[in-house]
Amino acid sequence: MFYKFKIYFLHLCKYLGFFWISRMLFKSKLRILCYHGFTMKDEDEFVPGLFIQPEIFHKRMQYLADKKYNIITLQKAYDYKEQRNFPDDAVVLTIDDGFYSVFKEALPILKNLNFPATLYLTSYYFDKDCPLFNLATQYMFFKTQKTDIDLKSLAISGASSQNDPDAVQKIIDFGKKLATEEERIIILKKLGKLLDVDYDNLNKSRTLNLITLAEMKALMAGGIDIQLHTHRHRFPTEHKVATYEIEKNKQTINNHLPTPMTHFCYPSGDWSKDHWPILAEQDILTATTCEPKLIDYDMPNYSLGRILDSARVSQIEFEAELSGFNEFIRKIRKK
Ligand SMILES: [Zn+2]
Repeated sequence: MFYKFKIYFLHLCKYLGFFWISRMLFKSKLRILCYHGFTMKDEDEFVPGLFIQPEIFHKRMQYLADKKYNIITLQKAYDYKEQRNFPDDAVVLTIDDGFYSVFKEALPILKNLNFPATLYLTSYYFDKDCPLFNLATQYMFFKTQKTDIDLKSLAISGASSQNDPDAVQKIIDFGKKLATEEERIIILKKLGKLLDVDYDNLNKSRTLNLITLAEMKALMAGGIDIQLHTHRHRFPTEHKVATYEIEKNKQTINNHLPTPMTHFCYPSGDWSKDHWPILAEQDILTATTCEPKLIDYDMPNYSLGRILDSARVSQIEFEAELSGFNEFIRKIRKK
């Protein structure tokens, strides 16, 4: 009910010209858009906040082109911010994690419109070409038609039946502690047999796999620059672990790049000011969050907000964020 009202309200505000006014008002601010994966099968039904259908992504990108938004690279945006001189209607496109679908679905659309973008790439699953363990576990439970399945043969404490409320999390926690990916794959294969969701099919579909080195090179050739997102998609404030996560991310990727990575995206958007000295030590220039904010010159470079777009976001909500109308509402609310 509230959602319906919100959508109606946004349409009304757009009709009354408030989106247009907001865009004029916030012309000199920077907008950073954030995407994750692109649907190849049913991923957006599985995690709507993480995936978007390519047709909708195409529509969004075409909208940016039609409405004459100025798509610039992240590095250019940083340079302009330092000079306190953003071009009008500047937008940066960012994509997190490095799913195969970025290569398969997003790249042709971006190339066609000649839009540059940044891919924040986690390195552990990069070039491994197997599904992310935690997502694959969740996906199997999402996909199964079975009920009441006995999971005791997995020998994971806390996950003895499909109906255990914590079963998924217990399997994920167990898998995380295993030493190798091969061991995790064995768990997924067993789980797939029990739940009747075939591991090999899932792997072959590559829906939950990250890109390979060859695909990363194709992305770079298509105008996508590769930046930091940690090795294992985790970034605690503990100095030693956080430093390892960035250094390992750099070691795995940097030697394939023309210039070393200097921009960072907090995994899952979790950030704190305690991270900032670690980022500075690593010569990082910017770090992006998942907080919806338009960017002005005074926003700290280590907490740059972004507009999240996914299957959960309707066109009118997208336009409300992009135009700055939502920013306007946030400012009023603050006051
Ligand atoms: Zn991420």
